[in-house]
Amino acid sequence: ATPTALMVGTGRGAKMGILIKNGEVLEEVNDVKTVVFDKTGTITKGKPEVTDIIGNENQVLKIAAALEESSEHPLATAILNRAKDIAAPKASDFKAIEGKGVSAVVDGKNAFVGNDKLLDDVKIDDDLTYKMTRLQDEAKTVVFVGLDNKIIGLIAIQDAPKETSKEAIATLKNRGLRTVMLTGDNQRVAKAIAKDVGIDEVIADVLPGDKADHVEDLQKNGKVAFVGDGINDAPALTMADVGIAMGSGTDIAIESGGIVLMKNDLRDVAKALELSRKTFNRIK
Ligand code: ADP
Ligand code: MG
Repeated sequence: ATPTALMVGTGRGAKMGILIKNGEVLEEVNDVKTVVFDKTGTITKGKPEVTDIIGNENQVLKIAAALEESSEHPLATAILNRAKDIAAPKASDFKAIEGKGVSAVVDGKNAFVGNDKLLDDVKIDDDLTYKMTRLQDEAKTVVFVGLDNKIIGLIAIQDAPKETSKEAIATLKNRGLRTVMLTGDNQRVAKAIAKDVGIDEVIADVLPGDKADHVEDLQKNGKVAFVGDGINDAPALTMADVGIAMGSGTDIAIESGGIVLMKNDLRDVAKALELSRKTFNRIK
């Protein structure tokens, strides 16, 4: 493409709220075979809400809120919103355990909130396991709340897909692209959401530091675009042939992306593709 065509292409993108950092990026988009999506804040709204509490609600929320006060995770925000009328005790010795949850000392006891991976030494009985899987199949993220190695309850949190995600995925699949979800969340939850929006492949339970490795692996089958919004997504955005960041994302995600979607609408991934095709005059 001529420099003029490139300017026209990126200019058109900008008008649609698709910021393309340079002409090279616009060309790369054309050759993408696989689109990999982060889940939270990318496919979903990123505004999780507590939907179910199992156990003594007041007690469960009190302990969970005491811990989540010190966390910046979206799940923490959901729990604190639900617990806003409850006076939570102060926690000390707060620790965030990557990909698993949080722990701290509350009222002299070792308190924790997190997923089953956090519970190495804690037994989950059959009834609770059943309740957990049922909630996860409803696309709800489940965290356990515990004190001194005993589970006192369970909190289910739902983060609904954005209204346009399903249509966006369908359009990409119609164009022959492979779609993959890459997430730190649990496999069952991830699968339920993927099914909802039509994504074929799910890579779940991924630690934040491992996202880029998965992108690299997928690159064995052709060029990869990664779409994400979080701090954790920056290495994957950089590793991908085309990094696409949500405009609502963290500064570091936006800096790492070659394309920024200002409307946070996944349908704009297909629009960027179309723009590239037109700019480079390639009919496929
Ligand atoms: P993602 O951003 O894709 O949800 P994370 O690695 O941030 O992935 O979190 C993975 C999982 O770790 C969460 O789904 C949750 O089960 C658990 N977790 C992480 N942080 C917290 C927290 N502050 N409170 C409760 N659970 C947490
Ligand atoms: Mg995210």
